Amino acid sequence: MKSSLLILILIFLFSNGIPTKDPVLVYGTHYVNNQPVSIEMHAGKISKIAPLVTSEELPRYFVAPGLIDIQINGFVGVDFSGPDLTVADVRKATKALWKEGVTSYFPTVITQEFSRMKENLSVLAEAKKDPEIGGSILGFHLEGPYISPKKGFRGAHLEKYIREPDWEEFLELQEAAQQNIKLITLAPELEGALPFIEQCITSGLIVALGHHDGGVTDIERAVMAGASMATHLGNGCANEINRHHNPLWPQLSEDLIKISIIADGHHLTKEEVRSFYKVKGSANTLLVSDALDLAGLPPGAYIRGERKLVLTSEVVQFPGENVLAGAASPLRKCIEVMMEFTGCSLAEAIKMASTNQAKMFSYEDLGGLIPGKRADLILFTQDGNKIEIQKTFVKGKEVYSRADDV
Ligand SMILES: [Zn+2]
Repeated sequence: MKSSLLILILIFLFSNGIPTKDPVLVYGTHYVNNQPVSIEMHAGKISKIAPLVTSEELPRYFVAPGLIDIQINGFVGVDFSGPDLTVADVRKATKALWKEGVTSYFPTVITQEFSRMKENLSVLAEAKKDPEIGGSILGFHLEGPYISPKKGFRGAHLEKYIREPDWEEFLELQEAAQQNIKLITLAPELEGALPFIEQCITSGLIVALGHHDGGVTDIERAVMAGASMATHLGNGCANEINRHHNPLWPQLSEDLIKISIIADGHHLTKEEVRSFYKVKGSANTLLVSDALDLAGLPPGAYIRGERKLVLTSEVVQFPGENVLAGAASPLRKCIEVMMEFTGCSLAEAIKMASTNQAKMFSYEDLGGLIPGKRADLILFTQDGNKIEIQKTFVKGKEVYSRADDV
């Protein structure tokens, strides 16, 4: 009787993914103050952080909280908006993201045929329950279909699937997503956008403005209704705009709007990144990768659904509309570019790629190296502005080690 009970307890423990070596101890140079520290992880959480007071050599790696990407369309060939998405695909993408130091993210579903959006959101909801990777999926970002249909502003979103906000329709998507849509990007100038934003806020969503041609009044009203972010500011915007009256200035000047930016070195010029950063500061700037499924694949021409895309070594183009279709770099690259372009510190760059995201979406157990928080952390080397992820931990469990990878 007793041994069968023990076996049952062991099965319970293993099925819940509790690491066998507990507590886990890592050493690193703290990303904020450059002090060598030991970090103890127990039962999935950071249990203790102590300064290393030893005459031994300094730790080889920096240590920081895991990165949080709130806008990522896919990775290593897996497209979260593509046909026939499976939980196995999401698992593949998540594991590839761990290699890049992303410990949690919002898979992003963009404007598509409505049935596909529903289907994919339901697959992602199942993936979120997966014992292996579910902890890394915080919620979903819905980018569209309620965005500007105008060329340039719609970016690479297909015009025929763009529509006006419809709350009942959105609830269908949210139901398919099992209430996991946490962030929606929409255009504030569309008919019905304001009551739609109010309903989103009442339901606990974060509303971001993006792919829009909203005027100052549209933006002001959207903020009054509760919108609080501008999605990939400076992108999702036509090439030719009025120098006085365009969507950029009101979003930059409005204190209640935080911005997300794709600082991959291609989507924005150095001067744009520097200017946006000077206006909003590290407290109100969130780095996003906006990576496409092609990220991580060899350069070349790819057919994706109804679109022909061209992947260069660092970016994805959509020649049909003469626009960028998305990025091909992970969030880690945005940290590097941010430091290079603005001269911000490593601590500030990581704040913009982890802490701000956790704060904005009220994930109080994420985004910092503090006892009690979830043990999501990265160990990495830094050479100039270049960062190389060496180890990644999710809930105290090592999910990636470069030593095993090369
Ligand atoms: Zn976009």
